Amino acid sequence: MNFLSQLTGCFSIPADGNPTVAIVEAAYANHKLNFRYINTEVQSKDLGEAIAGARAMNWAGFHLSSPHKVEIIKYLDELGQSAELMGAVNCVVNKNGKLIGENTDGKGFLQSLKEVVNPTGKTVTILGAGGAARAIAVEIALAGAKTVNIVNRDSGRGKEMNQLVSTLCQSNYYPWDSNFAVPTETEILVNATTVGMHGNSDASLDIFFDSMNSSMVVADVIINPPQTELLSRATAIGCKTIDGLGMVVNQGVLAIKYWTGVDVDADVMRKKLLEVL
Ligand code: NDP
Repeated sequence: MNFLSQLTGCFSIPADGNPTVAIVEAAYANHKLNFRYINTEVQSKDLGEAIAGARAMNWAGFHLSSPHKVEIIKYLDELGQSAELMGAVNCVVNKNGKLIGENTDGKGFLQSLKEVVNPTGKTVTILGAGGAARAIAVEIALAGAKTVNIVNRDSGRGKEMNQLVSTLCQSNYYPWDSNFAVPTETEILVNATTVGMHGNSDASLDIFFDSMNSSMVVADVIINPPQTELLSRATAIGCKTIDGLGMVVNQGVLAIKYWTGVDVDADVMRKKLLEVL
């Protein structure tokens, strides 16, 4: 029997409350993979040493949460295409001793989206311009979206994201005025802000909900609670909706594929995620 498990995990601050631990471990157990996933608290000042440690112990790979997603880049050997475009890495893969930085945030979202609608040739409106919004916009643009509309309160962040996305497809920045009306040509609407998440779930998105129509596909990145006000309102008028759970699960599936080469069962991970939320 081999008692030596190959290590994977996450470098985060704080280290608790990360549902990825439970879902990745559930997949490892289900597929009898001799891997472990360890959540570790790594302070910014210790990031370089933590990476040297992971290299020394031959970790198969690891996730990073904010604020490490940008700082990590200088310690890596190579970057995947979308990580390079975004300038942010959330998943590192050890390929024969070389550490490769990937970004699975947008890829996980795209996979969920494609189960409902193909974004190729579509007009997509994204609320928010933070890390999740940028990742989603880049993947959607790489997947051939016609136009990406970016709506954000902070105009500096919104315009910067618009500049990035405009190198990939047509894009527009909209200042977030009170009671924002969703542009009528929108075919896919995505909330990539923190509004609606646990602890902020009483806050309401400041949009004119009557500007949504039933032909729009409406997606939310919020994980907890999965059924946000936006999704409830969209369902009520007959829109197809996508919650944030698929994005998390798909990211776990992608990471495990990178680290172990195995395609794992997403249903096992989704069930575990619902259990731990
Ligand atoms: P960031 O802090 O990078 O960005 C937050 C964004 O939310 C900014 O655009 C900010 O706007 C906007 N925002 C915050 N409050 C409001 C408000 N009251 N009205 C309008 N806009 C607001 O966060 P992330 O991008 O990292 O994360 C965003 C969400 O995505 C989180 O809830 C996170 O949990 C979720 N997420 C889900 C994933 C999944 O797998 N399902 C993966 C990654 C993230 P401004 O710039 O104007 O301040």
